[in-house]
Amino acid sequence: MNNPLLANFTTPFETAPFDKIKNEDFLPAIKKAIKLAKTEISSIKSEPLPTFENTVEALDLAGKKLNVISSIFFNLNSAETNEEIQKLAREISPLLTEYSNDILLDKELYERISQVFNQKEELNLSPEQKTLLEKSYKSFVRNGAKLSDEDASTLRKIDQELAQKSLQFGENVLAETNKYVHFVESEDLLAGLPDSIKEAAAQIAEEKGKPGQWAFTLAYPSYIPAMTYLKNRSLRKELFIAYNTKSSKGDDLDNQETIKSILKLRDQRAKLLGYQSHAHFVLEERMAKSPQAVMDFLKNMLVKAKPKAEQEVAELEAYAQRLDDLDRLEKWDFAFYSELLKKEKYELDDELLRPYFQLKNVINGVFQTAEKLYGLQFIPNPDIPVYHPDVTAYEVKNQEGKHISVFYADFFPRAGKRNGAWMTSFKGQFQSHGQDHRPHVSIVCNFTKPTKSKPSLLTFNEVTTLFHEFGHALHGMLANGHYETLSGTSVYWDFVELPSQIFENWCYEKECLDLFARHYETGEKIPEKLIERIKKAANFQQGYQTVRQLSFGLLDMAYHNQDPARIQDIFDFEKTVMKQTELLPDVPGTLMSTSFSHIFQGGYSAGYYSYKWAEVLDADAFELFQENGVFDPETAESFQKNILSAGGSEHPSVLYKRFRGREPKPDALLRRAGLIN
Ligand SMILES: [Zn+2]
Repeated sequence: MNNPLLANFTTPFETAPFDKIKNEDFLPAIKKAIKLAKTEISSIKSEPLPTFENTVEALDLAGKKLNVISSIFFNLNSAETNEEIQKLAREISPLLTEYSNDILLDKELYERISQVFNQKEELNLSPEQKTLLEKSYKSFVRNGAKLSDEDASTLRKIDQELAQKSLQFGENVLAETNKYVHFVESEDLLAGLPDSIKEAAAQIAEEKGKPGQWAFTLAYPSYIPAMTYLKNRSLRKELFIAYNTKSSKGDDLDNQETIKSILKLRDQRAKLLGYQSHAHFVLEERMAKSPQAVMDFLKNMLVKAKPKAEQEVAELEAYAQRLDDLDRLEKWDFAFYSELLKKEKYELDDELLRPYFQLKNVINGVFQTAEKLYGLQFIPNPDIPVYHPDVTAYEVKNQEGKHISVFYADFFPRAGKRNGAWMTSFKGQFQSHGQDHRPHVSIVCNFTKPTKSKPSLLTFNEVTTLFHEFGHALHGMLANGHYETLSGTSVYWDFVELPSQIFENWCYEKECLDLFARHYETGEKIPEKLIERIKKAANFQQGYQTVRQLSFGLLDMAYHNQDPARIQDIFDFEKTVMKQTELLPDVPGTLMSTSFSHIFQGGYSAGYYSYKWAEVLDADAFELFQENGVFDPETAESFQKNILSAGGSEHPSVLYKRFRGREPKPDALLRRAGLIN
């Protein structure tokens, strides 16, 4: 059989041969690659004496073919999927889970790694090697390798139950979201709504069987604009209450007991593995290190942000009173009046800025920024196969003309692409036998498409999104480690957004905007006063937004940093925790916990703080660029060497300090957000 996935790739830079791959190639290729990887693992176990090279390093090198094939498959499933690929994913995912479980539960392999681990001080390892050894040892231990057979089987049971409960949590929220629809018969009630949103509301009504009416649901694209633009206050109130009572009504979609079970299981799991709480377990592998550090961080930020937030609420309340004689600003009023006030204060809207951000120019601007900072050149290479005609493949070279990476860019929405924007890679960076294997990195977005009369003109938000994803891409492209496990974006969670978020800062710098922000028809540079307004608008209600983010982080920590037996009533518990961050009058009977999917379904438990944490890092790091010049070569070189190229080779605190010369401080973020002077 001739399977292009299993053959050696004869494409430029051994890129994925998209022109040859067919859907039916995936399953047999994955099965074969798993077999191959297992043979590599067995040969590790057949070595007489375990050493760093024949065990830890060999484990990092095992399964490379499998990594490449599964990356190709799952990237396609996100960016260019169809029913056939989705069906395949349901077959392939369990195979890969089983494979990784087989490794992590392999006692013999664990014994060998722990033998190496126990001699780690005598082995004369480099810091990167030490990190690799610790990471692989920990991955076994955190999965129960040290436990007795009985405890290990308890752990497996807990994991299964947890997976089932988290799934149930998500399904309940989804069912509640899908169940709700609010029909509007009279167009008068829709005052304030932009035409495009009105059209979408009409389409929902038609799909739900009431053509000629309008309808709102609790899905984000329907709910958020409704709360932002609807003049009708009672309609906003109705939608707000529906949104904030999801899965809390005591019926079969209620999540209160699901939350208690999840908390109990997580706590049991942590204790079984020897940790004080779930938060302790999670934070061991984070830059923040401990629950205490996270709590100190959140509380310190809260003290700084709250006075500003209170001022902002008072300002908005006065504005609403002046405008509509509102007696009391309620939670369902906040987004609506904020939008009006923002317009009045900054006279900015998307349409005003779009002409300066033609996609073609913005991409050029991104490339020029990368060239000025890191000496990178992006050369389109039509010989590199792509998975869709919209995708462009580039060869990336450094100043000396050396090949650094392959870079794919995929910008426009289409049926087979999921929402949002992300960076991913088709192949990681690593070294073996003296050869440096360079990465294949990709960014996928859903930007405004060109029309018959106009090229693709981006909103400012899309511009920052492109810079953000490109920042992640730089982390991948400039990777310069020995081991794929530690290379590129394989870093701790609360550190991974530093390269992406810091890159967004350049979008607000005149020196950078002057490179590319030109009117697509007249060629005129973006006026300086528009840049000033963009900067000011970015700080609008930063106090309020900060307190809101902190409140979610504090609630998350409250749930995961203590004995869950003390949590009796979810409503009461949430109210008590949220009291310290409440800025608007409480609405009895509403809560967020029962639909807080980030922490009860997704992977953000004891991790919600990391959004703010990463902002502290990016603002603090960017301040050094501002002090030395945003294109200062020395600062850029240091950022490249210590952060972008270093990946996860050492603890992020160590890497960060090496770049900044000290620990991160929140002051730069507080200044940027206008919370201190
Ligand atoms: Zn990101």
